[in-house]
Amino acid sequence: MTSFQAKFLVIIIGILCAITKLTLENIRIQKSSSVISNIHSNARHLLSKQIKYPVLASAPLPPKELYSLLRSLDVIETDNERFYFMIQDRWSFIDYLSKMKGFRMEEEMTQKLHTIPTASNTYSSTSYLSSHHRTNINTPIYPVISPNFPCYRNLDGSYQTMEFLELEYPHLVEVINIGPSYLKSINSGGHEMKVLKLTNKNTSTTNNPTTTTTTTTTTVSKAPLFILCGIHPRELVPTEVCARFAEDILYNYQRDADKTWILDYTEIHIILQANPDGRQDEELNLRFRRKNMHIHVKKLGFSCFSKTRNGVDMNRNFPHSKWGTESSKLPCKATYHGYSAGSEMETQAIVKYLESVLPPGTNRKNANTGAYESDSKGVLMDLHSFGRDFFWPWAFTDDILAPNAVDLTAFAKKMASQTNPRYSSNNDVYNTSGDTTDYAYEAIGVAAYTAEIGTAFHEDCSTFEHTILRNTEKFLLYASRVSMYPYLLPKGPDLLISLSTSIIKNDENLLVTVHASDSLYAMEYVTGQQTLVVINLYIDTHPYEIRAAPDFQVEDNFDSNKATVEFNLPLSNLSQGKHHLFIQAYDTQGPGPVYSEFVQII
Ligand SMILES: [Zn+2]
Repeated sequence: MTSFQAKFLVIIIGILCAITKLTLENIRIQKSSSVISNIHSNARHLLSKQIKYPVLASAPLPPKELYSLLRSLDVIETDNERFYFMIQDRWSFIDYLSKMKGFRMEEEMTQKLHTIPTASNTYSSTSYLSSHHRTNINTPIYPVISPNFPCYRNLDGSYQTMEFLELEYPHLVEVINIGPSYLKSINSGGHEMKVLKLTNKNTSTTNNPTTTTTTTTTTVSKAPLFILCGIHPRELVPTEVCARFAEDILYNYQRDADKTWILDYTEIHIILQANPDGRQDEELNLRFRRKNMHIHVKKLGFSCFSKTRNGVDMNRNFPHSKWGTESSKLPCKATYHGYSAGSEMETQAIVKYLESVLPPGTNRKNANTGAYESDSKGVLMDLHSFGRDFFWPWAFTDDILAPNAVDLTAFAKKMASQTNPRYSSNNDVYNTSGDTTDYAYEAIGVAAYTAEIGTAFHEDCSTFEHTILRNTEKFLLYASRVSMYPYLLPKGPDLLISLSTSIIKNDENLLVTVHASDSLYAMEYVTGQQTLVVINLYIDTHPYEIRAAPDFQVEDNFDSNKATVEFNLPLSNLSQGKHHLFIQAYDTQGPGPVYSEFVQII
């Protein structure tokens, strides 16, 4: 290296360090200065995503002969003046690269970034097992990924969780086999793919043609909420978050009024381990595996430099009409899309299951706009880490808005506003094709989101417990709340409710104070500006029921998009025991989400 080159490199590194905020655990690019170019299109996008951990190094423009190798790396950032890159790989690979001509590694920076949080991050696995409700039920202690990550149950722990919940809550839980993983399909280990389905089995539907039996206590078909977890094995947080969400909502059935009706009127289908083969490999090696274990390159006569690079990126493999346009056909590339759309066993199992629950055509499109109608049902949440972002269709292009773009944006704003630090809801992201959201929106018409949660692939437990878990549970609960009409309800008023008391004699009146606001959680989006029309209160009959009529109603001449009203309820007609109050407000364009409370009459 000449001294000029050395100076140049120092300057480059200096610039990089200045625009990035280095910490021991990871590196973050400030949004305003992060420019990441898409290597396929050379189009630049401002990203709110953080750089993936661990970050590597900087280098002058690479010689041509290295370019094909670089293309197989996980994430590459370039601009016209300089070249630098980031990968998620093991040290030996990094060492190897650092010796290659043309590369200049910033070793000190890299070493810092590879520091894995250890005991100094004081965290004890008992804190999650003993946290609030877990002291009340006989929760097993599940095996965890490693002593460094005691807050994350491992793959076996996920499967044990499903078994336990099915035994513990037989009227609320069903575990459904949906097909073998790739390795299982070739008799080489692997796992059966499973869905953890949560719903009150004692309610059922009358107008769902696939349901023919059991008692009917509701007049409406239930809303599906699909939650996908663990498509990318190196992302440790999503599978754990999903398990905790399930445990929480089940435990709170009949304890929390909202979680109770949500399980009565919603089917929550959670795929806790969407890529079990890949996850097993990741848990053994912690090498930041992104893909599944289906090694395509064998047939092509070569292998990727790193075994971790083999396999298919399932989140580019879903059968969307633009499959293959914004992904890689190179088998060693992190975003390799597979032989064909839906080529992977895991993808096929998920697609078949989603379409069995919600057959294509069930949600109807408006013939003029192409948008799904406002009575369409269902939400898909695909959880990934890391980042603090919501993304939704179309993922394959920046140039065309999805027909339901306003609806999808309104919903995203309402989820984002409940996170702290606040997640992005601008849908700014590099283009991808064959992802879960484009597929699910196009094929079955659900409101589909990728949520990037957390700050690192291998998130430390303290951050997970104190920040990420709470944020994720909040937005998943909101998604559950609006799954019945996801293109409609998030545009309506949300509510804050307080009761004068939750235990009352029936010769007294109950005071229910309701703050209804179209702008609450709307983040100033246009759908939060309509005038209120009416606030309805129902006792023991959910507003979704076809014959439901409000017991009390406030429709004063509202002149604003928010109001606080009081219901002074006489209770003399009600029997002793627990009663369920449901409240729903409308603006000029329609209803908002249902909120509810229990009241105990003595
Ligand atoms: Zn991911």
